[in-house]
Amino acid sequence: MVGLVLVSHSRALADAATDLVRRTVGSELPIAAAGGVGEGRAELGTDALDIQSAIQGLRTTDGVLVLMDMGSAVLSAETALDLFDSRPAVRLCAAPLVEGAVAAGIQAQAGSSLETVTEAARRSLEPKEEQLNGERIDAAGPAPLRVPDRPEEVLEVEITNPHGLHLRPVSRLLAVLSALDVQVTLENATMGGGRVQADSLVEISRLQLRRGHLARFTVSGRDAAKALAQIRELAERRFGDDASTQIAARSSAGTAGPVPIAAGTALGRPFVVEGVRRMVSEAAVPEEDVSVQLAVLADALDGAVALLQARAEAAGERAASENLASLLWTQRLILEDRSIRERARKLIREQRHSAAAAWLEVTDEVARHQAAAADPYLRQRAADFRDAGELVLQRMPGFAGATASPVLPDHPFILVCEELSPSMFDQVRSPYLQGIIQFAGGPNAHGAILARSAGIPCLGTARLHADRLRTAGFLAFDGRTGELWFDPPPDVTADLRERQVRETRVRASRSVRAKETAVTRDGIGVTVQANVGTAAEVEKAALAGAEGIGLFRTEILFQEFAAEPGEDAQLALWSEALASWDDRPVTVRLLDIGGDKPLSFLSGPPEANPFLGVRGIRLLLQHRGFLGSHLRALLRLAHRRNVNLLVPMVTDGHELRIVAGELARAHENLVSRGADHRWPVTAGAMVETPSSAVLLASLAANVPLFSIGTNDLTQYVLAAERGHPSLREYQDGLHPALVRVLHRVATEGAAAGVPVSVCGELAADPEAIPILVGAGLTSLSVAPGSVPMVKEAVRQLSRGDCQRALETLLNESLTRGEEVRAFVRQHFPELVLGEQDG
Ligand code: PEP
Ligand code: MG
Repeated sequence: MVGLVLVSHSRALADAATDLVRRTVGSELPIAAAGGVGEGRAELGTDALDIQSAIQGLRTTDGVLVLMDMGSAVLSAETALDLFDSRPAVRLCAAPLVEGAVAAGIQAQAGSSLETVTEAARRSLEPKEEQLNGERIDAAGPAPLRVPDRPEEVLEVEITNPHGLHLRPVSRLLAVLSALDVQVTLENATMGGGRVQADSLVEISRLQLRRGHLARFTVSGRDAAKALAQIRELAERRFGDDASTQIAARSSAGTAGPVPIAAGTALGRPFVVEGVRRMVSEAAVPEEDVSVQLAVLADALDGAVALLQARAEAAGERAASENLASLLWTQRLILEDRSIRERARKLIREQRHSAAAAWLEVTDEVARHQAAAADPYLRQRAADFRDAGELVLQRMPGFAGATASPVLPDHPFILVCEELSPSMFDQVRSPYLQGIIQFAGGPNAHGAILARSAGIPCLGTARLHADRLRTAGFLAFDGRTGELWFDPPPDVTADLRERQVRETRVRASRSVRAKETAVTRDGIGVTVQANVGTAAEVEKAALAGAEGIGLFRTEILFQEFAAEPGEDAQLALWSEALASWDDRPVTVRLLDIGGDKPLSFLSGPPEANPFLGVRGIRLLLQHRGFLGSHLRALLRLAHRRNVNLLVPMVTDGHELRIVAGELARAHENLVSRGADHRWPVTAGAMVETPSSAVLLASLAANVPLFSIGTNDLTQYVLAAERGHPSLREYQDGLHPALVRVLHRVATEGAAAGVPVSVCGELAADPEAIPILVGAGLTSLSVAPGSVPMVKEAVRQLSRGDCQRALETLLNESLTRGEEVRAFVRQHFPELVLGEQDG
């Protein structure tokens, strides 16, 4: 094998470059560092004897390539060659030290000759130049293709490596091919640009094979069959990027997780915070201890309430913590709830439970009840109850300190916990917190909301890996794709750190352009608005550059009411939430509550299939008194604000006619009272049920605006509950069935001249944006944190390309969302797959 000697004035630099090459290429490569002068070679300089002994020390018969930094290093290297009695096969090369050394190392490892290794080093800047400037520095031109002397076989594989065929995957390919008697050429079948010989790192890098591209191998020679099999096998393992330490959750959606919760790359040592419930004994306490246990419970409750109050006040003082403060207040209310307290006391008195066991049983029961709610958002709030339960346990003798105030590491760490709770989140905030991995916890849980709004990468549903998460020395994950690595090797770590740096850069550049409108490359403007539910999100939407509020979900605000609020109270609630908003449009959705939701004043009897039950407009139509006050408050709000209305869960035109009648009645009432209000008002319909999609053309006669709620539309079209933990592959808004429905809705809306926007999560899915734009949907509403990313994605697209791709897609018989996604990646390789900006 050809050896390498790296020479630098700084010995430390030469040693570090040597280490980099070894880690990238492998430890068998003969490589040595030279440079530095004086004691311990600590001073800057080079000397010929040192370089000569480095060359001799490699003991390789295939030749040595010497790379050096500038000036006298070149002179010293030349002198070193003169010192040999009989001149060995040594080349000096002017290639850049770092890039040249890595490229040469990879080529040498593949068993190439000294000439080829030197050529790889010499041209090592080309891939970087192309990457940075999109240009080819083609001084030498492509290497001439050797014409194969045997029949050729062709193999096409899709590149699935997140970063495409970069240095390490290429080096693995070269290592495999170099051991075989074959001639192989490679071509980027997606982007074109011709074939290159697949024995050169430089040549292969020129192809810019990115994720989603098709790589076409043409193979001939005695070992062709073996080569084809090995290439296929390598491609399946992502050319070795699929180290056994990695779990690719994206491809295993629908299985046990982990699931991506908040975007971003995180690296750090695990910091495991276990709950205290494992320590609770179930043994009955002696009769005489009952009063002691009652006192223990009372003290612990007082302590926990005081703590929550202090934390909520502190959080309230931090501007960005409004969410957190309100969650801590909610937990305090749970602890002060008389019925919960009394039930725990009863268990102590009557069943002789210990204070800990009684409290745990009661809070677990409430949490279980909450977890059975049909609405995923409410269901995942069960964590609040469990968290409140643990806080009290921690204040009981014997449990103190279990997780009460964990001593946080003073190095970068990834929090590993059962489920992120608001109080835990408050405790672990630290400059060293890099990311969060939860054993449980779905994308709509409070923990997820907090992590996203704080911009901390997060994964959920990772229980299957709990043991490894507890015992790993180092973890890394991608909160956008769900990929997770245990003790990743240094080269993967280096790659992920690079990814982090890129993310930071992308975020910074997006936020610079966030306030500008988004226009496709062929000049089509796409409006990007925000979905909000709280005052904090309204503020965030403004900062993120949202052009309006495309969906104001009112359910979260209304949880503050224990009894049916009157018209004035509703008006005050919205006015307050919108206080920071200017005159850009706001689309307020009528209260979208299901029959099972614990809004005490609107709840109905339990239902067997709540998602198919009394939801959204169906519920409001059963509570006409409330609907009247709701509409009156909204008409008054629209007098002061640029407000449109949106009717949720519409099934047919009959419902819309009744709503129109109720609106007219609300208007008459306000006129008779002389109350200021807007009339007429724009009241659009959500397209969330298959029925509304099918009937769109006829609904369009009476509706001025449609908004597609892809979250519900997906669950109803695919008949799969949107939060169901084991139906993830059916929860894909890019399923071919959905693509057809979206296309039809967009087309019929356009034919009727009624604007159609999209406000479900799909609008913030980078792989969906070309499909939506191609369908003619040019008004998207997404979470505030996703606004800059969506705008940036739009700017990279041409609507013409999107339309053509969608037409092709509609003519193909794809069967799963994953296939649609692969299609999009293949047709839009330029689309930077974005992450939420926190
Ligand atoms: C939807 O269903 O896509 C939607 C936007 O409404 P929600 O998520 O609030 O049900
Ligand atoms: Mg919905």
